[in-house]
Amino acid sequence: MKLREYRKKRKFDKTREPEGKVVESKPDNLAYVIQKHQASHLHYDLRLEWEGVLLSWAVPKEPTTDERKRLAVRTEDHPVQYAGFEGTIPKGEYGAGEVRIWDKGIWVAEEVKEDRIVAQLKGQKLKGRFALIKFKNQDKNWLFFKL
Ligand code: MN
Repeated sequence: MKLREYRKKRKFDKTREPEGKVVESKPDNLAYVIQKHQASHLHYDLRLEWEGVLLSWAVPKEPTTDERKRLAVRTEDHPVQYAGFEGTIPKGEYGAGEVRIWDKGIWVAEEVKEDRIVAQLKGQKLKGRFALIKFKNQDKNWLFFKL
């Protein structure tokens, strides 16, 4: 079950985050969102819809439109319904703090592999070809940058 880890971390009677469900993704309408998340540490959650869920990474520094590289730490897949979520996750709950949409749109998948994604982002802030490349021999660390 693709959203098991997402659901295990949350109590849906405490947080307003969507429980969500796996959808049927359409290749010409894949959701893209970055949510600014003021948790214990401010970060930016990059999410790309793929095969019914949102592949997710936490980016510690604000993403840029130039070629500077950003660390992106892979996190659990989120439901596609999460792309519209803004709100405050209550104190004591997983990810407690403010979530605001920082950028939103769709993306076109040029390449999607286990360790490498090339994405055409069509957001308001980020537009154009971006890459996500996984570090070799590291579990969760990727680089995110404009091509
Ligand atoms: Mn987050």
